[in-house]
Amino acid sequence: AARLLLEIRDLPDVTRDGTRVELYANIGGPEDVEAVLGSRGAGVGLFRSEFLYLEKETYPTEDELFSAYRQTAERMGGREVVIRTLDIGADKTADYFGIEKEANPAMGFRALRICLKRPEIFRTQLRAIYRASAYGKVSVMFPMVASLWEVEEAKAMAFQVREELEREGIPMGHVDLGIMIETPAAAILSGELAEKVDFFSIGTNDLTQYTLAADRQNDRLDDFYDPRHPAVLRLIAYVAENAQKAGIRAGICGELAADPSLTEVFLKMGIRELSVSPSFLLPLRKRIREICLEETENDQGV
Ligand code: PEP
Ligand code: MG
Repeated sequence: AARLLLEIRDLPDVTRDGTRVELYANIGGPEDVEAVLGSRGAGVGLFRSEFLYLEKETYPTEDELFSAYRQTAERMGGREVVIRTLDIGADKTADYFGIEKEANPAMGFRALRICLKRPEIFRTQLRAIYRASAYGKVSVMFPMVASLWEVEEAKAMAFQVREELEREGIPMGHVDLGIMIETPAAAILSGELAEKVDFFSIGTNDLTQYTLAADRQNDRLDDFYDPRHPAVLRLIAYVAENAQKAGIRAGICGELAADPSLTEVFLKMGIRELSVSPSFLLPLRKRIREICLEETENDQGV
């Protein structure tokens, strides 16, 4: 089976009837780039930037972050690298952030919420990302969005950082701005949100947790935490529809993106980008090449 997969490694990601799909990879740092390139990933759809913070005893400096982002962008050689801004809190905490213990951390002070309230941390990261954009195709993505104002504030800070770097004469490339859709609120508001960003990436891990009110870390909830739940799939379809209406890209980067039994369902919803762990790239490429979208029009299976 491994040899069969290697045979399809260099084939394009197209369905039998020629629809192109972008197969991206999820990574935690530059050390994962080799695996992405080895399986011919079209880009990095989710760079979980918090790992660079979790490895340390104190805040990483702008230069440390820049160096990791630059390395990743350079080694991806012009393929897109979507850097998700800090998604710390809940399960991923570091003591030096000095964040108080909470009764409901998944619904607490985390991710973009921390970045908006602690702008010095956010600005340092944004500076590093914009600086790295001169060395490849870098995009930025904000996690855990629930409200329009959060996106407006985050974008305003990103534009400020860009202007500041311009004044300093630092070279930069074009940077697309996107958001994760991983709260029911963001999915429901996706029509409005689509007017504000360049792309969506649907985080099914958290979207499932918040839609079903089922803690993704609680093993006792295995029968209840169901990413294939019709409520979750309908939200995904709705987000894809709103993205298409607004003419922006929508991909899926949660674990569900790697489920081959849903690939056809997602493509029929209009999803054209899937971002998965590098080890799922080849099996998913194989799956995509088996699918023919024209056979059963209008059957979204949801
Ligand atoms: C998600 O929530 O689906 C996601 C991709 O982000 P993370 O798993 O890092 O929370
Ligand atoms: Mg998430």
